[in-house]
Amino acid sequence: MNIILATNNKGKIKEFNELINNANINLVLQSNYNVPSVEETGTTYVENAIIKARNASKYTGLPSISEDSGLAVDCLNGRPGIYSARYCGPNTTAEAANNKVIQEIKQYPIEQRTAKYWCIIVFMKNAEDPTPVICQDSWEGMITDNPKGTNGFGYDPIFYLPELNKTVAEISMEMKCKLSARSRCIRQMVNIISNIYK
Ligand code: IMP
Repeated sequence: MNIILATNNKGKIKEFNELINNANINLVLQSNYNVPSVEETGTTYVENAIIKARNASKYTGLPSISEDSGLAVDCLNGRPGIYSARYCGPNTTAEAANNKVIQEIKQYPIEQRTAKYWCIIVFMKNAEDPTPVICQDSWEGMITDNPKGTNGFGYDPIFYLPELNKTVAEISMEMKCKLSARSRCIRQMVNIISNIYK
């Protein structure tokens, strides 16, 4: 079954492919259909995920899966949050966003630098689907002011996992796919979609 994956983020696409390759679902990138990107005008991850899925279904006439995610740092009142991808403005690097977060957390003691990666995945059967399926989960860690590692993407070099004494950028893709909120959401969603189309 063909389902459009409504993202152009290479890091996310890699993780989706890693986790969906065994399921009876054929994810097709929205770029294959020249789906134009859409402005994320929501004030929640859920709203933004629905905006992206609806846009992909509207342009392709196919069901779609979208994902919205972000980093919420407790001592920064949940920032960067829904602005994670554009924390330093549009078209800036992940390194710039990481440095901004590091500068902001420096005034707080280490034990207050707790954070979560949020992940929301939405499935819509079509652009008018009034009952989108929503999966939501989070992954807890700390923010380190000493970025390490080259794996993953985005904030992974500063998202530190105390139980492994490593940042997410230092663990393998296989390990990230065992532990991350995205992997749990994808597994839940695969089960739900398999039941819808069985
Ligand atoms: P959006 O969901 O496309 O609006 O962007 C989410 C942003 O959150 C990404 O561009 C990254 O900066 C950040 N992000 C989301 N998930 C991860 C992750 O697994 N690792 C690192 N950064 C992430």
